[in-house]
Amino acid sequence: MKADLLVTGISQLVTAQGAGPKRGLAMRELLIVERAAIAIAKGVFVWVGSEADWRGEAATTIDVHRRAVIPGLVDPHTHAVWAGDRLADFEARSAGVGYETILAAGGGIWSTIRATAAASEEELLSLAQPRIEALQRSGAAVIEVKSGYGFTPAAELALLSAICALAKRTPVRIVPTLLIHVPPQQSNDRAASLSAVCEKLIPEASQRRLASAVDVFIEREAWSAAEAERILKCAQQLGLGIKLHCEQFHNVGGLELGVRMGALSVDHLEACKPEQIAIVAASPTIATLLPGVSLHLGLPAAPGRTLIDAGAAVAVGTDLNPGSSPLFSTAAALALAVRLNGLTAQEALVAGTANAASALGLVDAGRIEAGLPADFLVLAGSDWRELVYILGANPAGEVWIRGKRVSR
Ligand SMILES: [Zn+2]
Repeated sequence: MKADLLVTGISQLVTAQGAGPKRGLAMRELLIVERAAIAIAKGVFVWVGSEADWRGEAATTIDVHRRAVIPGLVDPHTHAVWAGDRLADFEARSAGVGYETILAAGGGIWSTIRATAAASEEELLSLAQPRIEALQRSGAAVIEVKSGYGFTPAAELALLSAICALAKRTPVRIVPTLLIHVPPQQSNDRAASLSAVCEKLIPEASQRRLASAVDVFIEREAWSAAEAERILKCAQQLGLGIKLHCEQFHNVGGLELGVRMGALSVDHLEACKPEQIAIVAASPTIATLLPGVSLHLGLPAAPGRTLIDAGAAVAVGTDLNPGSSPLFSTAAALALAVRLNGLTAQEALVAGTANAASALGLVDAGRIEAGLPADFLVLAGSDWRELVYILGANPAGEVWIRGKRVSR
């Protein structure tokens, strides 16, 4: 066998195995190979195994000097493109001011929508690029980025265009999602807004290939399950994947809808009930946890332990956004999932790699396996568990995407 690059001196190589059935991935054992090596040709893994078993030829060999190697992380849920900031909101909230008061004073999500609408594409890109770089340095090789701060169809399409332009400026694989975020504040505008989403926004996003999935925020203050069903049906008819923000603050039937319609993932779940846990656990839909939100807002975390014990496939993301999760590290999201959602280190690794890829409908990311893109991390230390143990420092020593070192 011939390779462009052989990576040796790997103390531990750790990866989830096989694309497999989606269900039960969170429970699956990891493959751990000690004193491992990986061979790469044309940006793809061509051989993975024990260093002593390598028999091929490599143009270049790199010794990582007894450091651990894991798959490139997959961040399955971010809102990384926005303008403005929520620092005044944060300061007010820290001083005990309620969200309703902050909203009434012109803060909250509407301030982000206003600032984002006022920004040019170039301004949005220059704001978003360092955020993507921060996630990349923390280990992310694949990042989902949602629209949703555009509000009107034209502004949403402009945001999706910006996300697709962002994808051309980074080695990270960007997965764009159209988020139908908040309905108009006037109730009599809702029907018109819904029609515009189904008849104009989703068809145009699909035709211009600006999104691979459509996400809807189902909540008492956002869209109802019935409204979301209409939106998601439009998306499915056009061949787009579907996913949901649901069960964040209240139970309004989002999880049941997502599972019934075959959603890739149902995200948040902080408020989900035991009977809902059984429903998602019996389905191939991924339960995506966002512990940065629990930390930042000081709210109860989603029941990760119970979900996994019930058999659900769990993924974890940063939910990077200015209002509820200013978390600029994909690795830190996994470390928080261990503390706040009750995941083990092994489950967190699977949740941030193979399962996160499944939450995006990807079968060729999040694993170290011959034939897959050579996305991997050389950790700073020799024991892979430092990935979720370390707080505040970066456990990712080097980030490699498609066989190229993109940060160290
Ligand atoms: Zn979100």
